Amino acid sequence: MTYPGHLLKENQIYAGKEMGQNFLSNPETARMIVEQTGIDSHARVLEIGPGLGALTIPIAQTTRHVTVVEKDRRLIPLLAQALESHGIDWVRVLNQDFLKTDIASLADGQKLVVMGNLPYNISSQILFRLIRSRNLIDTACLMFQRELADRILATPGSKAYSRLSVVAQYAAKIRRRIDIGPGAFFPRPAVDSTVLSFDFFSSRPFSEDMELLLFTVIKAAFSKRRKSLKNALVGPDLGLDKSTVAKALAGAGIVPERRAETLSVAEFETLTRAVDVFI
Ligand code: SAM
Repeated sequence: MTYPGHLLKENQIYAGKEMGQNFLSNPETARMIVEQTGIDSHARVLEIGPGLGALTIPIAQTTRHVTVVEKDRRLIPLLAQALESHGIDWVRVLNQDFLKTDIASLADGQKLVVMGNLPYNISSQILFRLIRSRNLIDTACLMFQRELADRILATPGSKAYSRLSVVAQYAAKIRRRIDIGPGAFFPRPAVDSTVLSFDFFSSRPFSEDMELLLFTVIKAAFSKRRKSLKNALVGPDLGLDKSTVAKALAGAGIVPERRAETLSVAEFETLTRAVDVFI
């Protein structure tokens, strides 16, 4: 692997902050990340943001079923060169914005393993998108800024517990895999990174409509996280007035003075069933 700094300089490309471009410069770290997914030659892998191919190469050395989605067209020829120099000609490269990619058309009837060292500025959006499409996905192994990874893993009662923690933990069994320091990247980021794996639950407690309601309840509750639930849930998100919110909370057996950050995922599910009665 050519050092990303040299490759970018030779080609007069500047790594862009707006696309979250911090490239892995240590092939050993890249290999370790791919090993954590436990993929074999049968896996169908979708990689988000392959960049210069640091992860793509070890992925493609494991399975021939690889599709990558890269938004920055300047990187496409460099990625092609990197793959070619390893004798790899079986990777499908799509020059697209992942936020607009039709994931279903890539799945081709078989569940995907999704991987990526994610652009930090849209990591949450990407994760929400994967969660919404999780019927097409078996597992995901994704790198985040450490602070965001901690938020995803946070438990009720902690400061970091947020909308993202509840939605992600509702959808998947999440594990912290590897912590990586800034020295493994070019350009060197100011923050640490962490790889998380997501094993999406195959059984779902809710129908699609109820799941939408659950996500709206979570959003409403956290949009005013300092307020008690009896106030936070009133308003346009759910279209409920004060007395209906009070009845729903009573129906769910939740003390109205509690705040969103104290509710477990199971309690959000119970609350959603109680809210549904009034909608
Ligand atoms: N996977 C490479 C690595 O580990 O060295 C690059 C990781 S870098 C943190 C993020 C990559 O995502 C960059 O290549 C960037 O151009 C790409 N990217 C940014 N926004 C994107 C988007 N919306 N869709 C697809 N790729 C995107």
